[in-house]
Amino acid sequence: MSEMYHTIRANLNEVERRIAWACARAGRNWREVTLVAVTKERTLGEIIAAYQCGLRHFGENRIEEAEGKLVHLRPAFQQDPPLWHMIGRVQSRKARPVAEAMDFVHSVDSLRLATRLDRFAGELGKRLPILLELNVSGEPTKAGYPAWDEATLEAFLHQEVAPLAQFAHLEVRGLMTVAPIVPEPEGARPFFRRLREIRDLLRQEHPFSPWDHLSMGMTDDFEVAIEEGATMVRIGRAIFGPRPSEQKPLEGGSKQ
Ligand SMILES: *Cc1c(COP(=O)(O)O)cnc(C)c1O
Repeated sequence: MSEMYHTIRANLNEVERRIAWACARAGRNWREVTLVAVTKERTLGEIIAAYQCGLRHFGENRIEEAEGKLVHLRPAFQQDPPLWHMIGRVQSRKARPVAEAMDFVHSVDSLRLATRLDRFAGELGKRLPILLELNVSGEPTKAGYPAWDEATLEAFLHQEVAPLAQFAHLEVRGLMTVAPIVPEPEGARPFFRRLREIRDLLRQEHPFSPWDHLSMGMTDDFEVAIEEGATMVRIGRAIFGPRPSEQKPLEGGSKQ
């Protein structure tokens, strides 16, 4: 196995250890938490190494990038195909390729998008599990249904959710959020807790779905998210290292 494999294996051991500890602290079974390895900006070699480490859930945030990789990876992963999760914003006009290529969509944030995903999933003869992305922090640049105060939450609960029960080809499974960037992971806790509390309200008010998934927690805050009930954590950097786009240009400026 390659050096890349050994690096990813070591990182993954550490991530899995931390997930297990967070579960233990919260009195949860670690099997309840699915690790989605976020492979945006990663090379085919890195993704194949992660697959060789046993990972079977991969997250991508741009459909064009995901499709480009899938052409090469599908044949390689044919024996035991992983599940591909769309975790980034999806424009409604990209609903068809998303419904085609993806196994789980975390980032549904409008009835229009849900309507189109349902239509294309139907045409493909598949049922597509989805999560509703919520903006629980109120940051204006953030995707998701507004749900950061009483008024926005009321509107979400009483106007946005019920129409989603009608789709024959979508399975509404729960909620997703991205916490604000804060100096300490503890600062993200109120946002994760709020997402769980909204999930609890949905279970009472909209029992058409089990609302059994909470996708929350990334490299900097996944332990807190698990303590607050995450069933899916989306982790990139802790497994693969810093993303190319975030690395400082090397001395001599080999990269813009
Ligand atoms: C990039 C990304 C992640 C993973 O972030 P890391 O900090 O690398 O763990 C998780 N969720 C979403 C929506 C992302 O875009």
